[in-house]
Amino acid sequence: MAGEPQADCLFCKIVKGEVPATVVRETETTVAFRDINPQAPVHVLVIPKVHYPDAGSLAAAEPSIAADVLKTAGEVALQENGDKGFRIVFNTGPGAGQTVFHAHAHVLGGRGFNWPPG
Ligand code: C5P
Repeated sequence: MAGEPQADCLFCKIVKGEVPATVVRETETTVAFRDINPQAPVHVLVIPKVHYPDAGSLAAAEPSIAADVLKTAGEVALQENGDKGFRIVFNTGPGAGQTVFHAHAHVLGGRGFNWPPG
């Protein structure tokens, strides 16, 4: 069922504590942990505890939890990077580089960023 944990989902396993992760923040509805392959000095993933395959399907089904993900992302940026700028990225679909199909926000900071992104 939509929103239910998926047995074969890596990020559902992180939510359940079955796969280790360096958690930097946790709320009732979200978990934030360091990316295992950081692309910037600050690189944290923020995920909803419920399972949806991407940010769009999460927002359509559970808009308040999608808002929680953004709120946690802002809190993580402040906690990790102070008032310096940061970037939030939702890769959505394989064509955009998504590789883990549990909705997640990348919070990136601590260096400059190009626009448009690569
Ligand atoms: O947006 P995308 O789906 O490609 O992002 C998945 C991210 O999950 C990658 O940045 C990858 O490094 C990260 N990851 C992780 N811990 C794992 C597996 C993947 O932080 N165990």
